[in-house]
Amino acid sequence: MGHADKTINCCSCSANFLFTAAEQEFFHLKGLVNEPRRCPGCRLSMRLKRAGAQQPITSVNCAQCGQATQVPFAPRGHRPVYCNACFHIQKKAAEAIAATNPQTADFDHPFFQTLECLSS
Ligand SMILES: [Zn+2]
Ligand SMILES: [Zn+2]
Repeated sequence: MGHADKTINCCSCSANFLFTAAEQEFFHLKGLVNEPRRCPGCRLSMRLKRAGAQQPITSVNCAQCGQATQVPFAPRGHRPVYCNACFHIQKKAAEAIAATNPQTADFDHPFFQTLECLSS
């Protein structure tokens, strides 16, 4: 069965867009059963948003030395953010504390909060 161009209403911006026969064929070949629900423009901005969510670059001032720095995550609320240099100093300090006294390692230490931001 051949495909025919089809008009779809974008669920995001409610603009009509064309789901062309060629695109339908492509979807068919890829084994995709769901029709696109968003127009190409919204699909692109969603992809960019998703990419941005993985690697958001935020400009902040280091909580330690006050220097402007960029971090690959969105700082959450009250958590202090450090520049690279200070982050490594914090890391060393936190590691030293954890190594000498694991039982009382302070996991509220800003380093661990920053680490949590970085790894989440
Ligand atoms: Zn749209
Ligand atoms: Zn700093």
